[in-house]
Amino acid sequence: MDIVVLPGDGIGPEITEATLAVLRAADARFALGLRFETHAVGLATLKTHGTTLPEDVFARAMAADGTILGPIASFEYPPREQGGINLSAAFRTRGDLYANIRPARSRPGLAHWGRTPMDLVIARENTEGFYADRSMYLGSGEFMPTADLALSVRKITERACMRIARTAFRIARTRRRKVTAVHKANVMKVTDGLFLRSVRKVAEEFPDVTLDDAIVDAAAALLVRDAARFDVIVTTNMFGDILSDLASELSGSLGLGASINAGDTTALAQAQHGSAPDIAGQGIANPSSLILSSAMLLDWLGTRRGVTALNDAAAAIERAVDAVLAVPERRTRDLGGVAGTMAFATAVADALATA
Ligand code: ATP
Repeated sequence: MDIVVLPGDGIGPEITEATLAVLRAADARFALGLRFETHAVGLATLKTHGTTLPEDVFARAMAADGTILGPIASFEYPPREQGGINLSAAFRTRGDLYANIRPARSRPGLAHWGRTPMDLVIARENTEGFYADRSMYLGSGEFMPTADLALSVRKITERACMRIARTAFRIARTRRRKVTAVHKANVMKVTDGLFLRSVRKVAEEFPDVTLDDAIVDAAAALLVRDAARFDVIVTTNMFGDILSDLASELSGSLGLGASINAGDTTALAQAQHGSAPDIAGQGIANPSSLILSSAMLLDWLGTRRGVTALNDAAAAIERAVDAVLAVPERRTRDLGGVAGTMAFATAVADALATA
């Protein structure tokens, strides 16, 4: 398996190094035959290559079995014409990695902030919606006809809604068989109306899975009050972005928030959080998010390629992370512990021997 590794900005290089330590331990135990190929991207290549995403690196990543992308500091990037390419947007749209799968699970012994424990997955549409850089063939989805008037275009297509819905229903079949469509169709009657109709149409293909729906503001309150009611949430791009940060933080910490961006032939592991410039370079970031994202990537590859050792390795990494998180002093600072980034990863790699 060829895995392209792109460390990214801010805490990216630290948590990527920690993640590779865990993956190497998993490779040794489960004989996965992982081959890692690391390339600089982001602010590092802006200086050396004049772009945050060199074209050959993008091509290598899309041709690989999977990619691990560290967080990126896109807010620090110059405009696109000056080389500032938002890597998330590039992989999701150009690479057609349309499904952003974001689980959130509370863990025994680890404080969660919601009123109930949770174990849910958010399937977030990744290629359109309220994202100015994703909605237009040419030009920006945000524009200002006059200095005091700003407009924004939101693109919703039946095709994108149906394929993210299918992803959500397939995930639900491996879990508690319930999908909740989160929308604002009471106000955005045309766009979210199309989303909701599309999800309902897909539901007919999955009679063994229950579908209900919730308006996005109510869904936010329900996540805090009664997250246990959710199994799989399917939603549009920006609602999914916001709700998944909420769900991860409620589950214990944003530092636990894992995700993959999946297309039909390849997938990219990416932490839910950003580049955390406030703690970059200090060796204190929680690497769980990227470690668990990489486990999701192995699991996705195992299922797609029919290689059960990859699924076994993914499950073992999950158990090893849980085992380390269960011991308060082995946790990183965001979870009240004292462990540094690499010490946490080494503990997870050690725990893999028995996980
Ligand atoms: P960006 O603009 O790249 O999204 P940000 O600082 O605005 O950066 P995040 O990086 O998501 O947003 O960080 C939000 C807060 O969560 C910060 O205080 C950051 O230190 C903290 N945080 C994010 N990721 C981690 C992590 N892996 N470990 C510990 N703390 C984290």
